Amino acid sequence: MILLATIPLPAISSALTPQHLPAARINALYVHIPFCFHKCHYCDFYSITRQTPERMTNFVDRILSEADLWSGAATSPARQADHRHLTIEPRTIFFGGGTPSLLPPPAMQRLIQGLQKRFDCRGCIEWTIECNPATVSLDYCAMMRELGVNRLSFGAQSFHQPELAALERHHDPDDVPRSLEMARRAGFERLNIDLIYAIPGQSLESWADNLQRAIALNTEHLSCYGLTYEPNTPIAVKKRLGRITAVQETIELEMLHHTRRYLSAAGLNAYEVSNYARTGKVCQHNIAYWHGDDYIALGPSGASHVQGHRWKNRGHLGGWERAIDSQTLPVDQYEHLSPSARAGELAMLLLRLEEGLSFSFFQQRTGLDARTIYASQIDALTQAGLLNCTDEHLSFTETGLNVIDAIAGEFILDSE
Ligand code: SF4
Repeated sequence: MILLATIPLPAISSALTPQHLPAARINALYVHIPFCFHKCHYCDFYSITRQTPERMTNFVDRILSEADLWSGAATSPARQADHRHLTIEPRTIFFGGGTPSLLPPPAMQRLIQGLQKRFDCRGCIEWTIECNPATVSLDYCAMMRELGVNRLSFGAQSFHQPELAALERHHDPDDVPRSLEMARRAGFERLNIDLIYAIPGQSLESWADNLQRAIALNTEHLSCYGLTYEPNTPIAVKKRLGRITAVQETIELEMLHHTRRYLSAAGLNAYEVSNYARTGKVCQHNIAYWHGDDYIALGPSGASHVQGHRWKNRGHLGGWERAIDSQTLPVDQYEHLSPSARAGELAMLLLRLEEGLSFSFFQQRTGLDARTIYASQIDALTQAGLLNCTDEHLSFTETGLNVIDAIAGEFILDSE
């Protein structure tokens, strides 16, 4: 999701409607909830602070109206017939943000139940909500669990106060074990912790300690991202002004390789460049993104993909609200990928997975033989020791992991 959400798209010249899209069965649904109580200094996701409970309540009304535009639940029978070819039956649902757990309990309840009324969620195997460790209570966790949510993801980022301060994260390290404990008491058996490494001032030892503390909490899933300095974020400006110093690249790579070794020994295997899980606890919603599946996003700045049609919702709450109020999809960027562009994008995504690009899966999705269309890349990158190639798979080596973004970029194909 994060990767796709950051791919630039052209501005759309006319309104997108569900009728523009080909027949598809959508199994993954994302909802972007753009409220935070404070803006962290490294963050370039769309979120706003200083919202009122009333605006959050109205936000839920509009998300449900946006869902109506897709489900046809509140529209005329003729319109329902128009887009009957598009079926949304989520296997996975993900509430991200922002800080979804900032929604007041009645608003969260209404949102979950409203989506369950609009879409057939009986086959939903994974419903994740991102939470800030400082914002949840036992009652809140219990409510979410009773409503059918079965996975929570906590943005811990670090267990060290100076590192949280460097990121301008406003929670206390002790909030993390406390909120995990509450989630477990409420019946959650699938919990994720997000951590960030290469924070300014962080040493390899300090990062190793963060990992130990996360493992001590017995989580089933960890996401570990290297800090990125996104343009125009406060942390990027501080770096440019020389107020902070980025961790050296060689140390960042040591942190990455230590993470893989340490977590593997602890029973959490890498399944993607930044994601680690115990057996059977892989995030299925993430897998849908990396497999190039179809998904629909609701909410401002949400990114969607259906059969090579990619679009992004308006990235501003006011603009998104106005579109919903006029009963149009709130889309302002759209692209229909050519078959070769779609194949290139799929290759890039699959190569980030530990299992790599399966030749048979790629052929089934694109109709193309990756061994043929990528013959020169495979030859050069395997000879350089950056990729492993077997009869079934193409996957990065330990050395290749160090330059995975550059490797993936080699697989972009010229558009026809
Ligand atoms: S809580 Fe998450 S979404 Fe909100 S500002 Fe911080 S990093 Fe961004």
